[in-house]
Amino acid sequence: MTASGHSQSPSAPRRIAIVGATGTIGVNCLDVVTHLPGRVKVVGISGHSNIDRLAEQARQFKPDWVAVSEPDRLEEAKSKIPPNIRLLAGGDALARAVSAPDIDMVVCAIVGAAGLESAWAALEAGKDIALANKETLVVGGSLVTGLARERGAKLLPVDSEHSALFQLLQEPGALGRVERLVLTGSGGPFRGKTQAELRDVTIEQALNHPTWKMGPKITIDSATLMNKALEVIEARWLFDMGPEKLGVIIHPESVVHSFVEFVDGSVVAQASPPDMRLPIQYALTYPERVPGPTRRMRWDELRSWHFEQPDRQAFPALDLGFEVAARGGTAGAALNAANEVAVARFLAGSLPFMAIPKLVRDILEGHEHDSRPDLGTLARVDRKARQEAEQWRNTMTTTAR
Ligand code: NAD
Ligand code: MG
Repeated sequence: MTASGHSQSPSAPRRIAIVGATGTIGVNCLDVVTHLPGRVKVVGISGHSNIDRLAEQARQFKPDWVAVSEPDRLEEAKSKIPPNIRLLAGGDALARAVSAPDIDMVVCAIVGAAGLESAWAALEAGKDIALANKETLVVGGSLVTGLARERGAKLLPVDSEHSALFQLLQEPGALGRVERLVLTGSGGPFRGKTQAELRDVTIEQALNHPTWKMGPKITIDSATLMNKALEVIEARWLFDMGPEKLGVIIHPESVVHSFVEFVDGSVVAQASPPDMRLPIQYALTYPERVPGPTRRMRWDELRSWHFEQPDRQAFPALDLGFEVAARGGTAGAALNAANEVAVARFLAGSLPFMAIPKLVRDILEGHEHDSRPDLGTLARVDRKARQEAEQWRNTMTTTAR
């Protein structure tokens, strides 16, 4: 029996739903699936606005259902999704579909706090989740990990750093012997730039990530280092590790995905070329390892890996991650909502790059903190922080570009 109660013989494929199938992670996940014939069956997929891609995926993978979350795209979906596939509309229908008895695992690949609802529904139904949507843990914190524990559902990290840590901590009792978890980060497109140089960066420059091809929101988060801040919070909840035991080091090649330092001083690392298909596959086949499509190390080309300390002056977003990890409660929901709006405003050209961490800090510090929120409180904090972030006016002297 799987955690969901759906019986599964060793030879039966794992039955998965992919929410956010049309995004970068979703597309990579479907590519992994094609390389694991007989191991994984795609039962359902969801998308938001890219209906052409969703329809193409539906024709190729023949799921039982396809869900569309953007109401304005439903008519288009009706005309494009093959008629023999069940078409679901809206968040409630998606939440019911991922909770159905025939699902073993849900791949959570929606971007932003919008991913919390389906992840929560899946966990509530006892489904294992392959979690790419880090915002679920940033916003939901201990409520999410508590629910997974209570329902006996596994939280399998897909974020490459957290997958690395998870892989390094497989030995029974390993977590209890940890001195420090150190997340690596590429440093993004602006590594080495000073605060002054960052004032004038453009949207195009910020979207040009050196090592990873990702959706626009996480790409901007990587440029501000807010992504690393979100990952510190994610690690805090995923591994139940206080922020004093978490660290961040910059590693431009993105080959070493994280380090674990144990109490005896031994440090172990997980390394592989930057390719999200590895952490996705590890979550899909966990606890097994099988050959797959992931890029391989080129040992004949390997010369050196570089590491440097993050520049906390130029990238003030990073400290916010440690602060929010220490504070808990509603802080993650406020930080995340403010950041989502700030990134959208930057991408719309109405906020300069360096205003992103400033806006987020202002909203975070001004929010009414609750140390033991329920889901309803988190939703209210999210809404209020979004409203305030929309209205926030930049008092910095630079112009928006
Ligand atoms: P993306 O923008 O490429 O894809 C986002 C997906 O979410 C799409 O399928 C879209 O249809 C769906 N979506 C967007 N808004 C929605 C809404 N309001 N309701 C329902 N669905 C919605 O993003 P991505 O790069 O694939 O990232 C997805 C998640 O994975 C993010 O949380 C990101 O932080 C995380 N992640 C991504 C990478 C990566 O390499 N891309 C690595 C680590 C973690
Ligand atoms: Mg990551």
